[in-house]
Amino acid sequence: MSRVIQSELLNSFSFIQHGFLTRDFGKDQTKGIPVRQFCRIKQVHGNDVVVAQNEKKLEMYKQTSADSVLTQLPQIALIISTADCVPLLFCDPSDEGKKVIAAAHAGWRGTAKNVAQTTVQMLQKKFHCEPKNIVVAIGPAIQECCYEVDRNVYDQISQKDFFKPIAHKENHWMLSLPQLNGHQLMKAGVSKEHIWISPLCTACHLDQFYSYRKEGESAGRQWSFIALR
Ligand SMILES: [Zn+2]
Repeated sequence: MSRVIQSELLNSFSFIQHGFLTRDFGKDQTKGIPVRQFCRIKQVHGNDVVVAQNEKKLEMYKQTSADSVLTQLPQIALIISTADCVPLLFCDPSDEGKKVIAAAHAGWRGTAKNVAQTTVQMLQKKFHCEPKNIVVAIGPAIQECCYEVDRNVYDQISQKDFFKPIAHKENHWMLSLPQLNGHQLMKAGVSKEHIWISPLCTACHLDQFYSYRKEGESAGRQWSFIALR
């Protein structure tokens, strides 16, 4: 059985399907997605958003540089691919008539640009979602135990509370990227009880996940998906 990580919080909403896939699916992660069409974006560690409202433009979205994608189209899986970076899956369950979902990719650069907040703001602007109603699942990613960063990263991220100094190693810190994204979501108006964060560290569990830190350039990518039914 190939493993799929799920958020119990997102599982409580029957209008969506979601999953954080693992390396059990190998290089062809499409096998783990239960819907027929995928919406991918060209992830570039930024904070641009694609509003994917046209099923005929899926090929175009795939070539669009962005790290966040929103849709109201049913049966189309929004895909984020990662190896240590943070995958975020969003939905607004407050209004069954206005179903909308989103997915985002946050490495340290995307986190510095606050892609989590940008996604919440776009849901608000384009679909009139109230931030307090938005529900977000943050999937397996590199955690504080394994994510050592240097001065360059420290200087570009404003929330210094999430950096833990390393004894006897000046200008290096351990950073908790998933927790920091959770904090950014709360600052954007998302309720604490509407945020689920996976405790799994991708770099600690190489049996389950690809890790860029541990495996380098050749690391595969695990896909995370969310789709409206
Ligand atoms: Zn770890």
